[in-house]
Amino acid sequence: MEDSDPALRDEAYIRRAIALAGAAARAGDVPVGAILVSGDLVLEAKNEKEARRDPTAHAEMLLLRDAARRLDAWRLSEATIYVTKEPCLMCAGAMIAARIKRLVYAARDPKGGADGGAFDVLRSPQTNHRVAVDRGVLEAEAAAQLQEFFRARRAAAQEGKTPDSSQPTALERWSSG
Ligand SMILES: [Zn+2]
Repeated sequence: MEDSDPALRDEAYIRRAIALAGAAARAGDVPVGAILVSGDLVLEAKNEKEARRDPTAHAEMLLLRDAARRLDAWRLSEATIYVTKEPCLMCAGAMIAARIKRLVYAARDPKGGADGGAFDVLRSPQTNHRVAVDRGVLEAEAAAQLQEFFRARRAAAQEGKTPDSSQPTALERWSSG
């Protein structure tokens, strides 16, 4: 995507990430999609926590691992990560550890976000690396996608169709992606 307008380029990557998030939701995972761009390298991932039965299989973590393997380096200082939801504590920590250059995300996560939504990891003066952060790109679309996912899951839980029916309130207000 060699778009001359950086804002349009950001929007195009987030739009693609929202499509990936849709695929995650269809597979039973919280809809989070992400793209990593580093030079010519463009990688895509979606949340696969449920699919892999792996608490660390968030889209951002899968991207960082994949990029490090392909670039044969843990330091990803040219990388930009585009993601549909504000990163959690784990992913924010991993982004700092990988020294990524920039993060662009869509929806806030007031329950678990680590860019000020619930925690302030990415902007903490205590960290040894500062990631440039832009948020709110296609925010309404990504938030609506999350809202719809949790609404459908609550409705299913109320009908007793999923094991989550015992704790429907724990599913409110995103996070766990
Ligand atoms: Zn995460």
